[in-house]
Amino acid sequence: MSDIRELDKKYIWHPFTQMKDWLSEEPLVIKEGRGSFLYDDRGNKYLDAVSSLWVNVHGHNNGRLNRAIKNQLSKIAHSTLLGLANEPSALLAERLVKILPAGLDKIFYSDNGSTSVEIALKMAFQYWQHKGNDKKTKFAYLKESYHGDTIGAVSVGGIDLFHSIFKPLLFQGFKLPTPYCYRCDFGREKDNCNKECLSKAKEILRTNKDYIAGLIMEPLVQGAAGMITHFDGFLKEIEETCKDLGILLILDEVATGFGRTGKYFACQWEEVTPDMICLAKGITGGYLPLAVTAVKEEIFNAYLGEFKDFKTFFHGHTYTGNPLACAVAIENLKLFEEKNLINRVQKNTRYLKKKLDMFNNHKNVGEIRQRGFMVGIEIVKDKESKEIFPAQDKVCYKISMNSRKYGVITRPLGNVLVMMPPLSIKRPEIDMMCEGIYKSLVDILGE
Ligand SMILES: *Cc1c(COP(=O)(O)O)cnc(C)c1O
Repeated sequence: MSDIRELDKKYIWHPFTQMKDWLSEEPLVIKEGRGSFLYDDRGNKYLDAVSSLWVNVHGHNNGRLNRAIKNQLSKIAHSTLLGLANEPSALLAERLVKILPAGLDKIFYSDNGSTSVEIALKMAFQYWQHKGNDKKTKFAYLKESYHGDTIGAVSVGGIDLFHSIFKPLLFQGFKLPTPYCYRCDFGREKDNCNKECLSKAKEILRTNKDYIAGLIMEPLVQGAAGMITHFDGFLKEIEETCKDLGILLILDEVATGFGRTGKYFACQWEEVTPDMICLAKGITGGYLPLAVTAVKEEIFNAYLGEFKDFKTFFHGHTYTGNPLACAVAIENLKLFEEKNLINRVQKNTRYLKKKLDMFNNHKNVGEIRQRGFMVGIEIVKDKESKEIFPAQDKVCYKISMNSRKYGVITRPLGNVLVMMPPLSIKRPEIDMMCEGIYKSLVDILGE
């Protein structure tokens, strides 16, 4: 048999990876998964503390999800939504509309988070054109935001490390301050905060409202930025401002959706209903690529017209509404209900919070941020000054790699350690995850 490690190194270009480092290291080859665990080809077992990049919900190799795919497979694997309908995509749409905030009634399918964002941006832009407003052509977005890696999504991205090199390719928008309270742009601490980020954001929106088609943001938690958690009420105030000013609110719930924060969708914590919502990652329980852009009827209606008016939304991907992916997504949602999973996540969120206390007094832990099953632990060189370690020291990368020794797979975001386990994780596994990462932290940085 061929050596997988050799083949990988010979042929594969890994995403978000410095390949020079990759080629000098021995890759871990995952062969199987069961529940919260991954198994490598040498028989070692690891807790999947990042849910295979934030997607897994009910654990790996779930019998029910496996069967849903097999059942659908015995009917048809794929047929197109261009000019044809299919059973799973229609049934899934009905289920999604039931759990989404009321009013998000129209479902546009695609196959990954970035495309769900591209679709929202293009739809919002064209919506205003149909309304006879050709000045609203720009988008507002938050500092440190992440909406995917395609050009449109990068244009509304705020993470300079990923995005600045592509600047000449991007369209211009309005970057708003974000409540990253640990490192406040306005020099405040939590006890003397007067929400200047919010007032500044509102001011930018008000000044430029005539040109802004929509505002896109990740509600409650900015995941890729390092699990930046917003203060309560930020989202609600943004929603109200957008309504007042005639700006479409687009929520990117690609990461926060499907129970991650302890509600089906994060916006439900503040009873916010966006004009559009972008969904992907957890939608199939982590099984197959699928994404959704759900919009209000009002947006859909603006596209209705005579054929000759060409008000059609000219956008679609080959695998749009793929029956296999939709079938497993339906089963995923059935399991949410049957297992009362949302309730269980809320309870285990409190359990996890208590466990995270073990990190509190470590000399290099600057801040612990948690919202449901999204956790970021910001590592600093010095707690007082909040100075970070130099990037080339790769401290969080080393801690994450070393945690494999304790049977935990995780992946850092810059100087932030991450925990984003499957929603079905059991309490002893939560213990193992926290203890493994903590021991690894101590190995690398001392007590
Ligand atoms: C992961 C992510 C995306 C991009 O999704 P892909 O499926 O990787 O294209 C977009 N927005 C947010 C908030 C994400 O976390």
